[in-house]
Amino acid sequence: VSLIAHLDADAFYVSVELLRRPELRGLPVVVAGSGPRAVVTTASYEARKFGVFSATPASRARRLCPDAVFIPPDFPFYREASKRVMDILRSHVERVEVVGLDEAYLDLDGLISPKAAMRRLIADVREQTGLTCSVGIGPNKLVAKVASDAEKPRGFVVLSREQACERFAASPPGLVPGIGPKTVERLERLGVTTLGALAAAPDELLAQQFGANHGPDLRRLARFEGAGQLTLDRVAVSESRETTFDCDVADAEELERILDRLTARLCEGLAKADRRGRTIAIKVRLDDFSTFTRARTIGAATNDPAVVGEVARALLREFGASRPVRLLGVRVASFDHAADAGEVPQLRMAV
Ligand SMILES: [Mg+2]
Repeated sequence: VSLIAHLDADAFYVSVELLRRPELRGLPVVVAGSGPRAVVTTASYEARKFGVFSATPASRARRLCPDAVFIPPDFPFYREASKRVMDILRSHVERVEVVGLDEAYLDLDGLISPKAAMRRLIADVREQTGLTCSVGIGPNKLVAKVASDAEKPRGFVVLSREQACERFAASPPGLVPGIGPKTVERLERLGVTTLGALAAAPDELLAQQFGANHGPDLRRLARFEGAGQLTLDRVAVSESRETTFDCDVADAEELERILDRLTARLCEGLAKADRRGRTIAIKVRLDDFSTFTRARTIGAATNDPAVVGEVARALLREFGASRPVRLLGVRVASFDHAADAGEVPQLRMAV
């Protein structure tokens, strides 16, 4: 059985703004554009009490909560904060799938005590960035996602699939990602207004109403069966090149030349895939098989062999191999995933 966590930063854009404007803490704060069709990207929990949520039209938000502090979105600033959070995630868990500036799935398979590991991760994020997160843990992405939303802010909800079915049986079908508003309407017309009812609906009825594939899919979603398209993508979190020598190498200049060649190959691969990373690491195995890694994180993501090479050579010099070297490698990690998310905030069930 696999174990997946979904981590979602609480009121992310607002929380990031409060880091530089702490005097606004405790007030209704709304991050929203100012155009005529602008919508709220994030509302603080204080503003939500007035009925202002993500995707509320900004004009309506101003009517509902005229005393709220309205802040225009500053996406470069949020992306920077997002990178800091995601880097911390990647330093705790090997397989991370970033799905937005403020949310990611983490593969907890193989961790000895996954819950304790997630508690440490959240504490680390809080300490290093001042941001709080909610976490859901479950056997698949669907359970994890819904669980992370269940007790925001600062939620920590662990559910088996069966527990998820039970807990959300009375919730509307739209709670589950993948069941959109149009489907919800059609289900309502059929008298199916809860996830429990959808989970128990006859396959024939669903197939007849929604098609032979989509109908049964809906029922599987209502039963929190997260197979198929909802399994975790194994996204590469780092790229590396390494080589084991036929004869151990003791000469420092020779080692740097080899490192340069590895760096050139690595950066060529990264450039082809249009990937850049901020963490540059070397791996050194000595002739007694002791293995060391040294890493440094730089300010901007890169795949430039000159930049990567300079950092890698500096790391090698600082390491100062005490014995002949058997294996040498170079690695780039902390890829610039957040940039992939783009500037357009996605509308989600909850932010
Ligand atoms: Mg969020």
